[in-house]
Amino acid sequence: MNAIILSIGDELVLGQTVDTNSAWLSRRLAALGYAVTEHVTIGDDQKDIESAIRRAAAQCDLLLVNGGLGPTADDLTRQAVAAAMNQPLELNADWVRKLELYFRQRGRIMPAMNRVQGMIPRTATLIENAVGTAAGIAAEISTAQKTCHLFVMPGVPKEMQWMFDSFIAPRLATSAGHGVILSRTLHTFGLGESWVAEKLGSLMDRDRNPSVGTTVSGGIVSLRINARFDDAGRATDELEKTAALCHAALGDLIFGQDNVTLQEVVGKLLVDSKKRVTVAESCTGGLVGKMLTDVPGSSIYFHGGWITYSDEEKQKMLGVPVEILYRDGAISEETAIAMASGARNKSGADLAISVTGIAGPDGGTPEKPVGLVYIALAHEAGAIAREFRFPGDREMIRDRAAKMALSILRFHLMGKPIPF
Ligand code: ATP
Ligand code: MG
Repeated sequence: MNAIILSIGDELVLGQTVDTNSAWLSRRLAALGYAVTEHVTIGDDQKDIESAIRRAAAQCDLLLVNGGLGPTADDLTRQAVAAAMNQPLELNADWVRKLELYFRQRGRIMPAMNRVQGMIPRTATLIENAVGTAAGIAAEISTAQKTCHLFVMPGVPKEMQWMFDSFIAPRLATSAGHGVILSRTLHTFGLGESWVAEKLGSLMDRDRNPSVGTTVSGGIVSLRINARFDDAGRATDELEKTAALCHAALGDLIFGQDNVTLQEVVGKLLVDSKKRVTVAESCTGGLVGKMLTDVPGSSIYFHGGWITYSDEEKQKMLGVPVEILYRDGAISEETAIAMASGARNKSGADLAISVTGIAGPDGGTPEKPVGLVYIALAHEAGAIAREFRFPGDREMIRDRAAKMALSILRFHLMGKPIPF
């Protein structure tokens, strides 16, 4: 069974909105065993939409269309669908009554132009919309080659997702005869993609099932596991087995899976260990504190911290000895340790993490180049520091430094040696 996804909207072809609907639908379809063969994007032009529907319908078993169901003159999808089906549009009186009620309950009278949202092609089925005013359309388009099942949804992501999950997916799941694709994503941070690939070895072989592939985003190297089998039980088992092999190959470098963030993982470790953390930041300018407080409920483990950008502030606020600043410089292991220890003493927190480095683009020297960053952690039994040379521009260096600070904290909280 193959599927084509057609997204409609001028804002999409003009690049003003990124088409996240197709990506979302592709993931859902993969889990249901469909092979998505194309993502097509078309502007708000009735003729273009109609010909795209005709062409796609001849080539796929399932065509999912989204966007252009609004009440305004630039919303032409329903007209194009009717034309491609060679059917006239007819008013669905039930839906118009529901729309009138919807507006009345909000103290408004339905604008006349909204009536068009109750129009669907003759022989098509109306799909109700519990989260908006645009009804969806379910229909079949038969050509000499095949019958294509067509579903049309609103472009608003929340409405599209609701309609797919509550109406379309249940109908697709029952159409037997195709396998399942189950997926999982495991996240790592701190070592490069090629290092991860080397550790995974033959798990990444192209023809392996479940397959394992890597992607990188913001320095986070993620492994995507896809298990394709006829039987859902088998797919689940094989997915678990491959995930276990990935964990065995990479150990604690994997910090979480699917939608979990590094911030959440560290936050949970802090809550579980009942420890409080503070920060002393220089080149990251508060980014570590920002990340620690990304997680709701972070006030349990984070009460505050310092951004000490100048040497004076490092002395005044954290008590970094002037001799260290003079002898070793602000960008040094000694300063990082003094910052972390000073922050820990002054705050009364159990742990303190510090970052000092050169984010660039200026300020680098041959001995201390742009990207040189020291991160230190002060804890109950002393302090540790690490030196890093992060590549990239100012934004990237600061981002990687903050994520590395969280990673160091994570390994410490797990009671594991720091692998960086
Ligand atoms: P509907 O079919 O619900 O009436 P529409 O195309 O008429 O949708 P628009 O006003 O064009 O509605 O879009 C509504 C919102 O949905 C906009 O913020 C738009 O950027 C967003 N949107 C539309 N299509 C997509 C898409 N494919 N991916 C992500 N966002 C989208
Ligand atoms: Mg639109």
